[in-house]
Amino acid sequence: MSFASDVRGELARVPVGEPCCACSELTAALLCGGGIAWRGRNRYAVTITSAEAPTVRRYFGMVKQFWGVVGQIRTITGDGLNNQTRYQLAMPEEEAAGLLDKLGLLDESALFGVRQLPLEETVRFACCRKSFLRAAFLMCGAASNPEKDAHIEFSAPTEGLAAFIADQLNYFEIEVKNRCRKSKYVVYLKRAEAISDALSLMGAGSAMMAFENVRVKKEVSNRVNRQMNCDSFNINRVMGAAEALIRDIHYIDAEIGLDKLPKPLREMAFVRANNPETSLADLGELMDPPLGKSGVSARLRRLADIAEKLRCGDEVKL
Ligand SMILES: [Zn+2]
Repeated sequence: MSFASDVRGELARVPVGEPCCACSELTAALLCGGGIAWRGRNRYAVTITSAEAPTVRRYFGMVKQFWGVVGQIRTITGDGLNNQTRYQLAMPEEEAAGLLDKLGLLDESALFGVRQLPLEETVRFACCRKSFLRAAFLMCGAASNPEKDAHIEFSAPTEGLAAFIADQLNYFEIEVKNRCRKSKYVVYLKRAEAISDALSLMGAGSAMMAFENVRVKKEVSNRVNRQMNCDSFNINRVMGAAEALIRDIHYIDAEIGLDKLPKPLREMAFVRANNPETSLADLGELMDPPLGKSGVSARLRRLADIAEKLRCGDEVKL
């Protein structure tokens, strides 16, 4: 099961609250699913089609409960191009126009007498806005697997409907982005907080929790990775400097002999050469008497300086 189908499965089970919400949800399902076809004067074929049976059963139950209309559910088996089985709820043709009228979708001035956008009063209350989004997601929503990507989207059939969906999200202060893709108008959400908010207000609380768990897990592992990279970078840095200095010490020994160095430098050279992985602070502890980090650092710099001068043939004052 994909994350998107988990979300849809959960949304399809959200109880339908008030008649206002049923009205808003059915309107969104019809407009986002593109299920209104003109069949001649005041006759319409009104259908809701989905690859998921629970979505279709939801609207079958809704029209029966709120409008007393008993639709018919049929199965559309996949053809060669689209192998997916789909389910379709068809409203009885003699009741379709009446249903559209009750939803406020009939409008004589519109093309074929049907509005392409809902009336503003369809989303009069916050509950209705949420219901609208729920149906929009069920009909034209998609979500990425959160393990891979944080992304949910609505791909609306018209620009106007995409804007209407974006308005509902903006109403809840959810920030959206838009783009056009293959003649669909896509409203999408990228920010994790926006996705969580949208999931929970549509009613997909469990999916929201699952999304949040993945997000927290990813954040922790990103932080651990960053920390590990940082630690190994520091180890490399310690090793790099130490290696260079140990080379210098061997060079000094080969050129003039470590026994020619003053005692503090000679001891420092021995301690460094014998403890290639030890930090400066710990090297100081190995000295007798112990030496602070800045003291260690000064002596190592002096050793590097001596090696440098020997390489360049400069005079070395010991
Ligand atoms: Zn409502």
